[in-house]
Amino acid sequence: FGGELRGKLQKMDGNSYGHYKSLTGSYIFPNYTLFVDHVQSDPYASPSWLRIQVSQTVAKFPKNLYDTTVRRIALCDYICRSLYQYNSNELTDATHRSPSRWGQTKGGQIIIDVPGQQVLQRTAVDINDECIEFRFAVNLPGRGRTIMGQLASRVLTETLPRLVEKCLFYESHDSRRVLEFVNCIDDQDVLRESLVSRGLLGFVRNGSLLPRRSGASDLPIAVDQAVLFQSPASLEVTFDLPHRGTITGMGIKRGVTLIAGGGFHGKSTLLQALQCGVYNHIPGDGREFVSVDRNTVKIKAEDGRVVTGTDISPFIGNLPMKKRTDSFSTLDASGSTSMAANIQENLEMGCTGLLFDEDTCATNFLIRDLRMQMLIPREDEPITPLISKIGVLWTELGVSSVLVIGGCGDYLDTADTVIRMNRYQPEDITAEAKKVARSHPTGSLNEASTTYGNIPSRRVSLPESLIKGKPPTAKSCHSIMLPYGSSHPPVNKVESAGNNMQADESYAHKDAMSVAHRDDDKPSLNLVHFDQLKETSQTRTIAAILTSTAYLTQPSAKKLRSAFFGQPAVMETTQGNTLTQRPSPDRSPTLCELLDRWEALMDTHGLRIVTARNDPEQFGEVQVPLSDHKVPYNLSRPRKYELGAAINRLKDLKCSI
Ligand code: ADP
Ligand code: MG
Repeated sequence: FGGELRGKLQKMDGNSYGHYKSLTGSYIFPNYTLFVDHVQSDPYASPSWLRIQVSQTVAKFPKNLYDTTVRRIALCDYICRSLYQYNSNELTDATHRSPSRWGQTKGGQIIIDVPGQQVLQRTAVDINDECIEFRFAVNLPGRGRTIMGQLASRVLTETLPRLVEKCLFYESHDSRRVLEFVNCIDDQDVLRESLVSRGLLGFVRNGSLLPRRSGASDLPIAVDQAVLFQSPASLEVTFDLPHRGTITGMGIKRGVTLIAGGGFHGKSTLLQALQCGVYNHIPGDGREFVSVDRNTVKIKAEDGRVVTGTDISPFIGNLPMKKRTDSFSTLDASGSTSMAANIQENLEMGCTGLLFDEDTCATNFLIRDLRMQMLIPREDEPITPLISKIGVLWTELGVSSVLVIGGCGDYLDTADTVIRMNRYQPEDITAEAKKVARSHPTGSLNEASTTYGNIPSRRVSLPESLIKGKPPTAKSCHSIMLPYGSSHPPVNKVESAGNNMQADESYAHKDAMSVAHRDDDKPSLNLVHFDQLKETSQTRTIAAILTSTAYLTQPSAKKLRSAFFGQPAVMETTQGNTLTQRPSPDRSPTLCELLDRWEALMDTHGLRIVTARNDPEQFGEVQVPLSDHKVPYNLSRPRKYELGAAINRLKDLKCSI
């Protein structure tokens, strides 16, 4: 047991690095099987992909910890965290080597997906009734181009078994903590799902700890430095959760809510906690029961962004040079046009809640005061500000807004609820605000719109635009399917050969990723404004989906496309006409259809589906067994809004309606 691997590695010691390739395959250990799926070609390449399967007869995780999707995601996330922590705390000495120069030892580290404060669906750990599976990477050690067999053997046959024993066997865990973790996530999900039926957009539990250590950290500040959240009595609501029982806190009603208050009194902090409330948080984060409807998006000014074919006419009309606004395209949007596009694109994807912070909005998109109304006639001002639309967004479209506002009282007239943050504590000042609004009219002309205007269209943004030039050749298809860092040309090289657009998982950082186009070198897609994107692993998934989508939408991939969308379901309408429910292979999917399909596939198959690029079988209705094909070890699930936002910012996107 394991002896085969040890012997093999010891024999390799001193050989040239390429011999590591022969490790590919599986190895039986006493309690588990180790798979070496992909071996790096040199010590400087991206690390090798490995996988461990432990049978449930040994691992023995009780079924009640993974008997629903939410609980399974929670348990896997918990195990991933314990693996990550154990690996970085306990095993550092054994495996960590600081980066060194050529000729010195390089590698030996075990690399595990880095989980943040959010509990997400991940590829790192998966579980079912048969087995638990753990995906990770190892930098196979070398000195120059020479294999360090002894060190590799220590890592794979001594360190790794300890990691397995400590984290992949149920008996090694504190059973009470695991159960608490899984139940806590379960409760958070129930809370979020019950918001709508209670007429709420969001909820903040009393006792929540909202502030973070710094702008760059998602960790909570120390409890003794924080003012814990306490709802004003008038806004207090309670929920009955399955495990925790009754919880109490502030309900944020659907409609228009303002968060007012002096500077530095905690307004932005509350909004930031709310925007993260689309995710479940780990116990101890402080925001576990800060929740918003999962279809809530933060809207920011993002001047400089690319916009393609978006209908921004509710907000922007009458542009100089007669530039169209019902299908607006630009490579360099202004603050206000970017906000208009951000709202419209998110409505198109189905969002029902919008979050704004005055700090990150364009002023001219928010208001037009009396003096400006006098100075610049309405006909000459292309912008219809948000204040004119925020009411109809709710009354006509059922879309709620929460707005942080400190400087502009004009919004008092439009608000259903006004919350004041005062020394980090919320107060309900709705009545007071209404009184002020009545006794001190703004004087500005009422330019409120009676209708919203064009509801965003269902744009067809694919296929030509994700594919440039001629379709990929068989050879490049093959390369695309392989994990990055393989001996085949890496994805971006295939691209620069001029075939199509590729998003590159290996160049994904949380806030940016590299998208190779035919005529550019490697421009990045900038995601720094995506406040609701939390992890690099989510960005990698977006990159993988863009790549797979490019692949799927090439004209010749008809079979793949029909597997992806399933058979078009034909439905009789009352008029006796037929209506195609899913896109047929001959019709291009709309952006929304595409996003919804990816969501459904990830629900059914897990994240491994996002790299199932050229294999129609994988898209079937039947769940494929765990790891039927090579899957990156470090993907976590983004929301469809962030995925769609990335697509909407592609420079080469083409759209039709
Ligand atoms: P505003 O948006 O009202 O100007 P911020 O939300 O940016 O204020 O908060 C100002 C500062 O106060 C930040 O450094 C933040 O971390 C801190 N802070 C916010 N809420 C709390 C709280 N509940 N307890 C302690 N510090 C807080
Ligand atoms: Mg602020």
